Amino acid sequence: MTHVFHRHLRQTPPVAASAQGMFIRDAEGREYLDASGGAAVSSLGHGHPEVMAAMHAQIDTLAYAHTSFFTSEVAEQLADELIGGAPEGMSHVYLVSGGSEAVESALKMARQYFVEVGQPQRTHFIARRQSYHGNTLGALAVGGNAWRREPFAPILVPATHVAPCYPYREQRADESAEQYGLRLADELEAAIVAQGADRVIAFVAETVGGATAGVLTPVPGYFKAVRAVCDKYGVLLILDEVMCGMGRTGSLHACEQEGVVPDLMTIAKGLGGGYQPIGAVLAQRRIVEAMSKGSGFFQHGHTYLGHPMACAAALAVQQVIRRDGLVAKVRDDGMAFGAMLAEALGDHPHVGDIRGRGFFWGVELVADRASKQPFDPALAVNACLKKDAMARGLLCYPFGGTVDGRQGEHVLLAPPYIATRDHLHEIVARLAASVDAVTRSAA
Ligand code: PLP
Repeated sequence: MTHVFHRHLRQTPPVAASAQGMFIRDAEGREYLDASGGAAVSSLGHGHPEVMAAMHAQIDTLAYAHTSFFTSEVAEQLADELIGGAPEGMSHVYLVSGGSEAVESALKMARQYFVEVGQPQRTHFIARRQSYHGNTLGALAVGGNAWRREPFAPILVPATHVAPCYPYREQRADESAEQYGLRLADELEAAIVAQGADRVIAFVAETVGGATAGVLTPVPGYFKAVRAVCDKYGVLLILDEVMCGMGRTGSLHACEQEGVVPDLMTIAKGLGGGYQPIGAVLAQRRIVEAMSKGSGFFQHGHTYLGHPMACAAALAVQQVIRRDGLVAKVRDDGMAFGAMLAEALGDHPHVGDIRGRGFFWGVELVADRASKQPFDPALAVNACLKKDAMARGLLCYPFGGTVDGRQGEHVLLAPPYIATRDHLHEIVARLAASVDAVTRSAA
């Protein structure tokens, strides 16, 4: 009998007992190779001694002080570290406790900015279908995951959803990748105009789509065209890098590879690497200045803003990643990882697409490769795959099936940056065996 309100109310998961490096062990002594870092969280692996030492030192000094009274040395240091690597023009960091809080804060920051600069008529967000921005009501409103939204749709703030950048399913045979990207930017422009050009607060997008559609890498030029459309109408660009940021795709921020700078950017998972709950919004100077010269106060806040323990963990994680050159390692080994996946699964009759960058890869599973027909959601291929992979000692992150009714199941892979080539080979071997077993019985 469990008293924990687990996400699956009719199942109790295995008990995680300990973790080290690339592996988690359960209370029965089974060992799992962590190929997804939980949900793309664990950037530095488990039990890193320097992170543990930083957390011990912090708890011995200052575990907590409320931000309505104090700042802390460690929060200031973390903000300096993050601004040191941030996209051009970013000047301030708002430190929260996770991804949804970061997105929620960014949405409210964007809205308050327009109130401060005398454009209170801007009340509408535009985002994308098949996206995920978190589970709190604001974040859920901009999210485009139909299944997650459905029960709550009547109580969400209004948002318009345009097409995601999903070339495998939505690029036409008669258009190039660049033309496809421009078509999507035109669709965004039409949505802004339809809403009323001066009524839109922001366009919200994951730079590389994560959980909902299985790693959607943007086509070349897409985000540059999106940025130009936003600028034309004075609409802010909020990039959600909660999952794809902090080195995951082979650059510190995924937007670096797109050559665009957002107005606000959210980060979380890889920031603290799972050692503590932490997220952040990185904000452009002009937004912070407008608020500081206006009301002088961000009308928002949480009890655990800038939590010293969380900041200490994140600072240590980021310092180790920078010192050890792990982002460059992710970029280089990521190419090898992609090649391993292509070799093992590229010709599989139930693998429709393999896509990704760095240590962030998605494998889309289909019932029929020629027609791209997804598996029947009733077969719950993703749940079967998760179970089968765990039985083989592999943690991967399958998702899909019921999303918008037109999308194949996919598996997300996001190993910790410390993974060696041997680990990557082992991940691919176990995943290939699992995909084969599960799709064969589903077909
Ligand atoms: N944004 C993105 C892109 C995410 O992938 C997630 C979580 O998966 C979130 C926001 C929400 O983050 P959290 O679960 O920490 O609230």
